[in-house]
Amino acid sequence: MVASGGELGWLTWPDEQGWEIAQQALNGSLLYNYFICNVGAGEQDNWLRTTFIQRHPTATRVFVEMRFVVRDCNSFGADSLTCKETFNLHTSEADADIGTSFRKGQFRKVATIAPDEISGVGDMQINTETRVVDNLSRKGFYLAFQDIGACVAIYSVRVYYKTCPATVKSLAAFPETVAGGENQALREVAGACVENAVSEDQPRIYCTVDGEWVVPVGQCQCRPGYEPKNDSCQECKPGFFKTSVSNEACEHCPKNTEPSSSGALSCPCLQGFYRAPNDPLTAACSAQMAVGKLQLSWSPPADTGGRTDITYNVVCDRCEGSVCQPCGEKVRYDPSNTDLKEISVIISELEPHLNYTFTVEARNGVSHLCIAKRSVALSNTKNLVNNKLVPEYRITDFTVKCSLQEKDEEKNKVTTYTVLVLEKNSVQIIDLSPSTVYLFKVQALSPEGNPGSYSMEQEFSTPAEEMFRFAQKSPPPIKSFIFLFSYSRKNSHTRQGPEDAYFSSPEQLKPLKTYVDPHTYEDPNTAVLKFASEIHPTHVSKQKVIGVGEFGEVYRGILKAPGRKEAAVAIKTLKPGYTEKQRQDFLSEASIMGQFCHQNIIRLEGVVTKFKHVMIVTEYMENGALDKYLRDHDGEMSSFQLVGMLRGIAAGMKYLSDMSYVHRDLAARNILVNSKLECKVSDFGLSRVLEDDPEGTYTTSGGKIPIRWTAPEAIAYRKFTSASDVWSFGIVMWEVMAFGERPYWDMSNHEVMKAINEAFRLPAPMDCPSAVYQLMLQCWLQDRSKRPRFQDIVSLLDKLLKSPDSLKAIADFDPRVSIRLPSTSGSDGSPFRSVSEWLESIKMSQYSENFSMAGIVSMEQVLQMKSEDIRNIGVRLPGHLKRIAYSILGLKDQTSTLSVFAV
Ligand code: AMP
Repeated sequence: MVASGGELGWLTWPDEQGWEIAQQALNGSLLYNYFICNVGAGEQDNWLRTTFIQRHPTATRVFVEMRFVVRDCNSFGADSLTCKETFNLHTSEADADIGTSFRKGQFRKVATIAPDEISGVGDMQINTETRVVDNLSRKGFYLAFQDIGACVAIYSVRVYYKTCPATVKSLAAFPETVAGGENQALREVAGACVENAVSEDQPRIYCTVDGEWVVPVGQCQCRPGYEPKNDSCQECKPGFFKTSVSNEACEHCPKNTEPSSSGALSCPCLQGFYRAPNDPLTAACSAQMAVGKLQLSWSPPADTGGRTDITYNVVCDRCEGSVCQPCGEKVRYDPSNTDLKEISVIISELEPHLNYTFTVEARNGVSHLCIAKRSVALSNTKNLVNNKLVPEYRITDFTVKCSLQEKDEEKNKVTTYTVLVLEKNSVQIIDLSPSTVYLFKVQALSPEGNPGSYSMEQEFSTPAEEMFRFAQKSPPPIKSFIFLFSYSRKNSHTRQGPEDAYFSSPEQLKPLKTYVDPHTYEDPNTAVLKFASEIHPTHVSKQKVIGVGEFGEVYRGILKAPGRKEAAVAIKTLKPGYTEKQRQDFLSEASIMGQFCHQNIIRLEGVVTKFKHVMIVTEYMENGALDKYLRDHDGEMSSFQLVGMLRGIAAGMKYLSDMSYVHRDLAARNILVNSKLECKVSDFGLSRVLEDDPEGTYTTSGGKIPIRWTAPEAIAYRKFTSASDVWSFGIVMWEVMAFGERPYWDMSNHEVMKAINEAFRLPAPMDCPSAVYQLMLQCWLQDRSKRPRFQDIVSLLDKLLKSPDSLKAIADFDPRVSIRLPSTSGSDGSPFRSVSEWLESIKMSQYSENFSMAGIVSMEQVLQMKSEDIRNIGVRLPGHLKRIAYSILGLKDQTSTLSVFAV
């Protein structure tokens, strides 16, 4: 809205001596403005009201940008005593234009508008100020500018609201959405998958009051035949294909396929090429083996019986499964299959997919006395074998069946079976009898011991004992070697590796100073020099890696500075190959930490910056991160001890807030615990805003926010203040009282934000003193100005600790809600199948043996247990006792809903 001439029709009150339209020539063009300058004319109350401004139905918050000039009161000499240099902005809502009727009482004040720069005689400083008018609900509104005795000219007023622009994120399209206001800081918006994309759940996202999209939820994926490209799903190009719904790229058509057209779901096989029914569409097509032709060769028998009239007969059997029959006339032999003098034959007209067995008999003039046989099992199904007709399971073992065929009249009678189970693919079989025909079959076993089918039988004859007698003094044991199929081991996935405070509180030092953002130093190295002392690297020795930070490993070590006692320290290192920016970001943590001196803030010992291996050295905290410490000591600490820890953290945070430092990532994982169980706030960094926190979730503008620890206004419009740190402190209180339980359990970030927006809050942890839970709820007030300050928190916690009886009243605890952790059923919602599965789900596996020793082996028995019984089987810690008892309670009451949160 720009004032241009008198046609704006704004109303002035009182009419005569108040605001008026003025003209001013500037650079050749005329500028109009609303002007007033009743300086030195006594009390002033002059109003300028806009025309009725229609409100967009969903815009509850509008911005008013004013460009104006204010004259310096000093320039009015004697009149300057009553002269003002500000004016007021007011608003009044209405459902319809009320025309020229004007009543001051209908307006509410939005803000006092003061100029950044005042103008003297002859110079003109135009100021631009923007104010928010929030919580609008009626059809429209008026704005009014109240002069109380200043010399002001208003050049323009721009009224606007913010929107999140129509966008496509993760293949979901979201419409332009008007940003919410204080009452609805995050607007949930449903989207739709782009053309040719689908998703199981409707995609959603939040629009913040700043008109920024955050936390997209849901995954749209391109249909078969389409791949993601530039926020859309595009057809696979010719020669490419995609078989399934996914965001993978289209693949090249496999071998032996026809080039596909665009948008192909698969590529058809070239003529003469096929896929077996179980072949994936991504597999190459394969040809059937040409109708078979093969050359069969063999060695003459070692012992020809001293004769030369050896001839051979080739016998062919055709087998399907275990059924074999003679091959018949179809198969051709060149030159013949009988009376062969050569030791080879060409066999043709073999059919694909079939197993053939050829037996070669050697004969001589006295062959009725001895027949030496060699069997050759041939498979004509090579291609199919390649295409996985072999058993799909992994083969780890083989069985070898050995049957003994005695060379007597009852030739085919099998008399003995020996079964060997092997882990290798060869075996040596000893102690065979001479002059005996042995048949061997091999069968593969899967790791579970499931048998595959048998191979063809292989036949071996052992020579006569006499032969050995002649050759050697004593017959050696007869040996035979069998070579089994060797399969490469497939499917052998490697398993993926799997994630009091007795605040001996001396009067805390009051910070004398305000925290200085190292960014304000032009050269960040100056900041490090100013706030951290340089340590010579020979004075620090690393002992053991204790953690990994964003920039490199964290070590435990020793600091031995000249003239000082040896001290255990933590040494943060910067991994080699760092850039100057990384070095500066890394050291910014030291520049910040070095400014603090408090018992509950991790203490900086110094830095190594003048050598290649840059380090930050801090005091060593023996018990590591608080969240893990609590999980490892679940149920082992009293409320008094836990509240003591919280008091320490609150004291550290009070110190930080007194120094005007906003932490932004306060969470139990960023609190360190020493051997005296003192808790200290850690994790200060600059670039960090959470870059190094695995809990950080990217917002669409690229910032990262740990949603479940962060106050709604900080998520919505990055309003990070000590009050948002207080919200996070409330979450830390909950984490501590719940022994390191994950806030909001397995709810997604999206569900958490929705629940918080709808005024739900975390329920009281088990056994949590009522006063402590009340304090948490205070920390989670939507209106940040109503939250307690850290100094209030410290004094309240102090009070509780001074009269421990105040911790006796326990907050209502609803196992059906809170025992989502000790869950009421298995992860899939089905009842627990075993006592140990249930114990594992409530993280009480350490008692498995107690249960089984007491004969409690079924969930039916568990459900009958009373507190007494649980104690009697050896669960003594009160926390554990309760956890188990409550879980049983929850199991009995599975019908109750889990959606009740304390508000
Ligand atoms: P940070 O980079 O600060 O998040 O550190 C990574 C991990 O190193 C932490 O989670 C701790 O387990 C460990 N750590 C860091 N500083 C210390 C310290 N002063 N004393 C003991 N452990 C530490």
